[in-house]
Amino acid sequence: MIRTSALLALGAALTLTACSGSSDDAGSKAPLIVYSSRNEQLIKPVFDRYTQDTGQPIQFITGKEGPLLQRMRSEGQGSPADLLITVDAGNLWKAASDDLLRPAQSETLDDRIPAHLRDPESRWYGLSVRARTIIHSTERVDPESLSTYAALADPEWDDRLCLRTSQKVYNQSLVAMMISAQGEQAAEAVVRGWVNNLAAEPFSNDNAVMEAIVAGQCDVGIVNTYYFGRMQRTDPDIPLALFWPNQDSELGDIRGVHVNVSGAGIAASTDQFEAAQAFLEWLAGPEAQEILADGNLEYPANPTVPSDPLVKAWGDFVPNVINVSEAGKLQPDAVRLMERAGYH
Ligand code: FE
Repeated sequence: MIRTSALLALGAALTLTACSGSSDDAGSKAPLIVYSSRNEQLIKPVFDRYTQDTGQPIQFITGKEGPLLQRMRSEGQGSPADLLITVDAGNLWKAASDDLLRPAQSETLDDRIPAHLRDPESRWYGLSVRARTIIHSTERVDPESLSTYAALADPEWDDRLCLRTSQKVYNQSLVAMMISAQGEQAAEAVVRGWVNNLAAEPFSNDNAVMEAIVAGQCDVGIVNTYYFGRMQRTDPDIPLALFWPNQDSELGDIRGVHVNVSGAGIAASTDQFEAAQAFLEWLAGPEAQEILADGNLEYPANPTVPSDPLVKAWGDFVPNVINVSEAGKLQPDAVRLMERAGYH
């Protein structure tokens, strides 16, 4: 009864979408209900495939991560949610620390997803990996002059750097990982250096950073690679290139390229734990991994699954393998640090 009324309440504000299943027994199983901050275009093909393969119907709502988590919190144990899918380890960490997620008990999941890309307490699992790396003009920057995120604070880059706003969780996670690697003082010195080197006020999104570089407003920036991939797909000759920083393990700020995840966890409110876990296991398997990663030009979290050819062409890199949950834990410190450093 709680379930039904909660669903009705939900339907008033957000559309609950059912995936079409062609399988004969699709009608005989109770639907799994997924709350997702990933958009319908990306996740619906994955859900449809699962329903076709297994007969398990899936209903979902999509929304921004903040309101979705808020909804789960206010619905509490009466929430109809069986699973949460969201972007950024910071958000997943928050959901877990607010007790919105229930630990999985699955060797399959632990086998499929590397340890640094999942919650040490099994409450969430990374499903796709997003690398946040340096992007530069191919016309005005010799890649030889690049090395680390920290080096973008050097005087050489004065008036040549563009960044996205610090309000975005992506940069909060990046700075959190810098704090994790080298401590708060050193991380703050770097962020202050970045602010000194800015050629323009921070931009609202990664695309604007890349457009500013193309327009000659600045020469280097930091972006998630899939944004570059989308641009490159429409304009293969765009005068931009990715650079993999921090590849030398001796360097202090973050050991390897900063990676984050989009991921999922079983909702604490679920009354279908086994079905939810089976679906999560499938999401970590090859079929779903390919659709999930390629759909947004990200990297599959499951290392046995190959990347999209366009992504593969960017070459291999050493990622930072510190557990991504650190980004969540240190996020409040990162936000305060950026505030102090004048990075808005
Ligand atoms: Fe994004």
